[in-house]
Amino acid sequence: MSNNHTSIHDFDFTLICNYFKSLERQGPGSPEATQKALSFINELSEKSQIADIGCGTGGQTITLAEYTKGQITGIDLFPDFIEIFNKNAAKALCSDRVKGITGSMDHLPFQNEELDLIWSEGAIYNIGFERGLREWRQYLKPGGIIAVTECSWLSGARLASKFISDYFPDIDSPSGKVRILEEAGYAPLAHFALPEHCWTENYFAHASARIPGFLKQYGHSEKALLLAEMQKNEIAHYEKYKAYYGYVFYIGQKPEE
Ligand code: SAH
Repeated sequence: MSNNHTSIHDFDFTLICNYFKSLERQGPGSPEATQKALSFINELSEKSQIADIGCGTGGQTITLAEYTKGQITGIDLFPDFIEIFNKNAAKALCSDRVKGITGSMDHLPFQNEELDLIWSEGAIYNIGFERGLREWRQYLKPGGIIAVTECSWLSGARLASKFISDYFPDIDSPSGKVRILEEAGYAPLAHFALPEHCWTENYFAHASARIPGFLKQYGHSEKALLLAEMQKNEIAHYEKYKAYYGYVFYIGQKPEE
């Protein structure tokens, strides 16, 4: 799902959910990228508490479960996503330690210093990178890790486009984002850009393939056509300007006290 605030507010939730819920993921990413981000983290134990914030239907959560021990709580605003998330966890035979709950990232149901790991792929923009890093820090144990993806410039070149300012108003260079991470009280462990196929093959290909069925389902209604149009624009914009921007994984550690 893209960072278009108008899209969230202008469409009813059911319409958005119906478009996105049958996709394997609701944003760019890949199992390899999730695994790579995990490679910077010390091994967790069965007692570890992990939160996946803005988990969607749980594409990345199942990968997280495969490569970590511990309990994982997925949180998403949309109950329909959470329902599918819990079905996916059951299918992957990990419902004993992977549970999805409906909730908002600005009001998380955790205790202070309860979590060993906070994960969030393609979702922190909903609260804002800086605000999310600052507010979620309280839930991490000293020494706990945060790993998030966030839209960033991929080179020194800048693109002045309405699309970028509408969709990614907080876009910055990786060095700028790392500084925000440091100032929010984390030691930066690593950052790396997601490869192009995380957008094209893993996300846009499925999002495009969904459009005809979605339009049929909604009888080509005005809102459905508008959502489809926005998706097509997002894909075309990425194709044209992908050298400029992309998602970067940022991994940081709350210092031991
Ligand atoms: N992590 C998933 C989904 C990314 S899309 C993936 O990479 O595939 C962003 C997700 O954030 C959506 O599932 C959306 O429902 C969720 N979201 C948006 N605002 C939220 C909020 N305030 N609290 C929790 N989740 C939110």
